[in-house]
Order: sequence, then structure tokens, then C-alpha cells
Amino acid sequence: MKKRVIILGSTGSIGQNTLEVMDALSDQWEIVGLAAGSRHAELAQQANRWRPEAVAIADSEAGPNLKNALDYAPNVLTGENALYKLVSETDCDCVVSAVVGADGLAATLRAVELGRRLALANKEALVIAGSLLMPLAEQTGATIIPVDSEHSAIFQALHSGKIEEVTRVVLTASGGPFRTWSIEDMAKATLEDALAHPTWDMGPKISIDSATMMNKALEIVEAHWLFDLDAEKIEVIIHPESIIHSMVEYCDGSVIAQLGAPDMRTPIQYALTYPARIPGPAKRLDLTVAQTLRLEVPDETRFPALTLGHEVARQGGTAGAVLNAANEAAVQLFRNGRIRFTDITELTKQALLDHRFIASPTMDELRKADRLARTEVTRCTTC
Ligand code: MG
Repeated sequence: MKKRVIILGSTGSIGQNTLEVMDALSDQWEIVGLAAGSRHAELAQQANRWRPEAVAIADSEAGPNLKNALDYAPNVLTGENALYKLVSETDCDCVVSAVVGADGLAATLRAVELGRRLALANKEALVIAGSLLMPLAEQTGATIIPVDSEHSAIFQALHSGKIEEVTRVVLTASGGPFRTWSIEDMAKATLEDALAHPTWDMGPKISIDSATMMNKALEIVEAHWLFDLDAEKIEVIIHPESIIHSMVEYCDGSVIAQLGAPDMRTPIQYALTYPARIPGPAKRLDLTVAQTLRLEVPDETRFPALTLGHEVARQGGTAGAVLNAANEAAVQLFRNGRIRFTDITELTKQALLDHRFIASPTMDELRKADRLARTEVTRCTTC
């Protein structure tokens, strides 16, 4: 019997990489559900190729176009709750959650509720609701395997010892396109500058998050929830080559790192096949050519997002939801040319300072904190 997988966010960068991995796994795995936000033409093309029993699109206006472009008759779900319904109604072994941002939260939570294996690329789900998601997984027996390359590396390195023997984890960061830029130059950076990531080929939101290093801030919070680590034990180091994907230091001084070519297909495949490893399509690390692996201490004056990441991991509660929502709203404003690049982190910081903190929030309170933070960020720029 083949294992059944649903891919949420199949038309995005991680989703497309997942489909390439599925090519290598197709004798053991079948795709039973594909879901996207609004890119109906790409989704239809993928569905016609992979023939899942259900297809979902969040944008209800794209529904008719999707249906017209399908050359078979799967169960088609459309509208705001389409992804949630897809996970609820389609029996599967694993859900790959690769939606970008808060939009992926409800369906991701549903997968955990149903006790599925969750291959989690949607880091925002953990940043917003890690305090609810992790205990829920424990209750339902859902296994959460990170797809984020750094967290996949830590997950793998943690197999070398016990969690109580860990003294710190070190998240590597490429430093993004502005690693060597001054604050003054960053203030003038264009969208094109911010999207030009030096080592990873990714979608626009995460590329901008890499440029502000907010991506690493989100990853600090993600690591905090995923591995139950105090903020003090999570460090960030700049590693421009993106070969060392992260490291774990144990109490005896040993540092275990996971290395590989910068290719998302490696962590995606591992999340699916864990604990097994199989040959796959990912690029190999070529050790026959000289490699320089640089490590640099990050400059939190130029990249204040990192400070926010640690603060939010320390605070917990509603802070993660606010960090994520404010950043998402600010990134959108920057993409629309409404604010300067450096305003993204500044507005996010302000939203964190201004919000009414709740230490043990319910899902509704998290949603409300998310909504208020978005409104505040958008309002700041109109006054
Ligand atoms: Mg990452």
C-alpha cells in the first residue's frame, strides 16, 4: 500500500520542490490532495499530472477557472476554508504544510488534530500558535517533522544525544543580500535588491524575510517551540555559503552539524521518509572543489529583527502572533512601495511594544492579536 500525502501550498517554492521529491518517491507514495492560494492554472497543471482525489484553492473566484482546466473530476474545494476541508475530508498519512504565512494555520492545526505526520515548512504556524500546536501534537500522537532547513538540521543533530544534554543550538543564517550593507544603504534598498538572495532560490515573502533577517527571528521562535528550548539556548551565526544548515552543541563540548548543498529537496524528503533515508533528487555537496565555510557573528544593530526573535521566544503568549502578523503586513507594504526596507522591522517592533500581551492565549485570542497587529501596522503608514 502506498502512503498518502496532501501538499498544502503546492504551487509555491516548497510545494514545487516537494513535487520533485515525489517523483523519486512515487513507487511508495501517492499524492491524494493538492492545495494552493490563488494560482489556479499551475494548480490545475499539477493536478492533471498527479491526479489527486481532491484539489483545493483558497481564492473562491479562482474556483471556476480551476475546474475548467482540470481534465478529470476530483473533489474540488474552494474558498477560505478549502484547505481546512481538504485536510479534514481526505484520508492521508502525511500533510506537507508549505503555505506561506498565517493563511496556513487552520489547516496545519487540523492535520495535528487528526494525528497526521506533519512535514512542516509553514514556520509561521509555530510562531503564531506553537503554545497550542505542540501540546496538541502530544495529545493526538501527530509527529511534526520540520522542513525548514535549519530545523531539519537540528532535528537530525539531536539524534546524537538527549535533549537535556544540549547546551545550545546554533541556527545558521546566510545573512541575505544585505549582509555587508550599511543601515543607510538598507533604508534605500529596492524590492529588487531585497529579492536577490545570494544562495537560496525562494518565494518573495521569505526572500524579504531573509533580507531583514526576520526569517531568522521567526526561526528562533520556531526552534523554541519545536524543540522545547529556552531562548537563551538558541544562537544565530552568519554563514554566507549556506552549507552548514545548523548545529547542536552538547554538554561535553561536541558540536554536531548537518551539512549539504543548499537544496530544499533534502529536508523535504527527509521529513517524508524519516526515519529512513533514500536516494533522492537533491544536489550533492561537491567536496572535490575547494570550499570556504565562513562563520560571522551577526550585527544586531543592522539587523534588529534578531533581537525581536529572542524577545518573542522568551515572552511566548501572544508575542509570536504579533511578530508574525506585523511583519507580514509590513512586508506587504514594502512590496507595494509604501514603506522603506528598514521600516519593516521598525513597524514590527512597534507593534510588539504596543500590543496587549496575553501569557496563555486561546486560539481566538491569538487570531485577535494577529488581526490587531495587521491593522496597527497598516494604520501607522497612513497617518
Ligand atoms: Mg530556514
